[in-house]
Amino acid sequence: MGDCIFCKIAQGEIPSTKVYEDDQVLAFRDLDPQAPEHVLIIPKKHLASIMALGRDDRELAAHILTEVVPGIAHSLGVDVGGFRLVTNTGADGGQTVEHLHFHLLGGRSLTWPPG
Ligand code: 5GP
Ligand code: ZN
Repeated sequence: MGDCIFCKIAQGEIPSTKVYEDDQVLAFRDLDPQAPEHVLIIPKKHLASIMALGRDDRELAAHILTEVVPGIAHSLGVDVGGFRLVTNTGADGGQTVEHLHFHLLGGRSLTWPPG
């Protein structure tokens, strides 16, 4: 999508610190980390948010949740200690970039509830 920052990152037009990549998914470090490990996991395909996922995206969603997230958690060393996976959605959800992304946060004890 024309002006989407994360599409530009996925296409390599904006640099990022890559943590994981395959043909469908990219994961890179957040520019403004909120924890010692703060990675953003995005589909390369532009989807505005989790609300834009359709039946055709089932395989992609399952791939992210069953393979990519656990694999990254393991490679960052937060799989045993724990981590948080968040997808802010829409204005009330605090979403600021309108390209579906999952925040993987870890490396410290996280509090709940969020603000
Ligand atoms: P949201 O607020 O939509 O849930 O999360 C957007 C996240 O993207 C924020 O945590 C913000 O720090 C991060 N972010 C915004 N622009 C960039 C960028 O150009 N590069 C990287 N690596 N992260 C970004
Ligand atoms: Zn996009």
